[in-house]
Amino acid sequence: MKYLKGSCLCQKVKIQVADRFEYIGNCHCSECRKFSGSAFATAAGIDFEDFKIIEGKEFVSIYQKTDNTALGFCRNCGSSLFSQKTQTRKYNIRLGILDDSPTKKPTFHIFVSSKAPWYDITDNLTKFNEMPIGTVDN
Ligand SMILES: [Zn+2]
Ligand SMILES: [Zn+2]
Repeated sequence: MKYLKGSCLCQKVKIQVADRFEYIGNCHCSECRKFSGSAFATAAGIDFEDFKIIEGKEFVSIYQKTDNTALGFCRNCGSSLFSQKTQTRKYNIRLGILDDSPTKKPTFHIFVSSKAPWYDITDNLTKFNEMPIGTVDN
């Protein structure tokens, strides 16, 4: 199994993740917009077992968004890192933290109905107005 390395902006937090993401998609919901500070967040789903913080665990802060969703970010530089789904035991990794290239690429957009009005989607990936069952839930 190939492993990918990733890090936050200040390099205090270093992560490792198996290169076997279940899905990769761009989420356009307003909460991902806030958390990332960008038009959308590229989220990649992986099992708890396949994701590891290998350095700087003490710098990872958790914001408990809902009962089932916790957002992780670096408390030193503010980089958003992942969301943690306690019910399904999945991480949705914020793909921008990767320093290596994953084999899979994004294949869809979700929450297109709430995308930023100032952003136009110009690619041909599948668009979902909300969240299709069995894919990303940020
Ligand atoms: Zn940092
Ligand atoms: Zn979202």
